[in-house]
Amino acid sequence: MDGNEKTGKTKKPNPAKWRPQTRLVRGGLERSGFHETSEALYMTSGYVYPNAEEAEAAFKGDIQRFVYSRYANPTVGMFEERMRLLEGAEAARSTSSGMAAVFASLMAQLRAGDRVVAARALFGSCHFIISELLPRYGIETELVDGTDLDQWRKALKKKTKAIFFETPSNPQLEIIDVRAVSNLAHEAGACVVIDNVFASPVLQQPLELGADVVVYSATKHIDGQGRSLGGVILSTNEFAQTTLKDFLRHTGPAISPFNAWLLLKGLETLDLRVMRQMENARVIANFLSKQNKLRRVLHPDLASHPQHALAKKQMKGGGTVVAFDLDGGKPAAFRFLNALRLVDISNNLGDGKSLVTHPATTTHQRLPIEDRERLGITEGLVRLSVGLEDPADVQDDLATALKAV
Ligand SMILES: *Cc1c(COP(=O)(O)O)cnc(C)c1O
Repeated sequence: MDGNEKTGKTKKPNPAKWRPQTRLVRGGLERSGFHETSEALYMTSGYVYPNAEEAEAAFKGDIQRFVYSRYANPTVGMFEERMRLLEGAEAARSTSSGMAAVFASLMAQLRAGDRVVAARALFGSCHFIISELLPRYGIETELVDGTDLDQWRKALKKKTKAIFFETPSNPQLEIIDVRAVSNLAHEAGACVVIDNVFASPVLQQPLELGADVVVYSATKHIDGQGRSLGGVILSTNEFAQTTLKDFLRHTGPAISPFNAWLLLKGLETLDLRVMRQMENARVIANFLSKQNKLRRVLHPDLASHPQHALAKKQMKGGGTVVAFDLDGGKPAAFRFLNALRLVDISNNLGDGKSLVTHPATTTHQRLPIEDRERLGITEGLVRLSVGLEDPADVQDDLATALKAV
């Protein structure tokens, strides 16, 4: 059951013909008998049966209907269908958080004795799953420099079940060549799992570039308004049905219908928000590039970014996040953060509000210092997720805070 049963409408549009912005607004919409404009919120954990025979048939799988919201729910189904259409995937499944999506996309396909290769530049919790959790279950893992194709080639000489990476990475915005790395993985028979959080579905389509599975933290741009956690896994039908389905049903990372409804409504404005936030991020990145207290300013759309050409090739734009390195390490970074009056200190990103964080002491605090240094997550590095405010106000705030350093 995918939560998209027919409502008996006579005029059925064809979403396959819709352009992306239309899919964002109308994809997956299934109206109830009340003909509501906005998507209905079905806050229910279970469903009732007219008789015992129908319950039996539902559990046997002889009839397709809603059984229990850990398996499927009409509101959750609408969110999944909208994501599926947007990404051009065969199947979409949602989870309670981005980490639940990352964990399920890997754990559902792995067994003891399998091997995973991942790029070293990972979000803190992804790093924990790859380098600490999977090995506890007898799964060998290796981290490589994701921007170095030779390292992938070498690591994939050993039999590998899956590879995992983020691009752009959190927080240093490293760009990995999705097509080239996917080709290497496929030659080695490995499944390519990509965390597409930083690009969002608006700016990068990893499935078109060769990925097999795409995961999102919907908490970030998809909600984008700081209200809800959520995650999504996009894949083939085969992966969703044979690998994911039982894992999700029986381990229970199901999203609340209420949160799925928030995310569904978030999708309607996703393109508008991401494009405007990116425009603002470009203004801020250019402004920061001219400041002399900064060692480097990172945004994929700056010509100075190490993988600028690759970003242009595989993304529709460099995204909403800017990172920069302050001279003077942690004390300078803390003085800067504490002097901000408009931009909030918060570890979230992709939000309508501009948010700033110091990765070395927050999101990447768990990482051994050698790993942080190797990744360029220095003590002076600041990550700024640019929001929807007038960029001139954000720029004024940053300028004042830079004076305090
Ligand atoms: C935030 C984030 C996650 C985790 O998502 P949650 O919704 O917080 O669980 C995973 N990967 C990346 C790159 C992220 O930024």
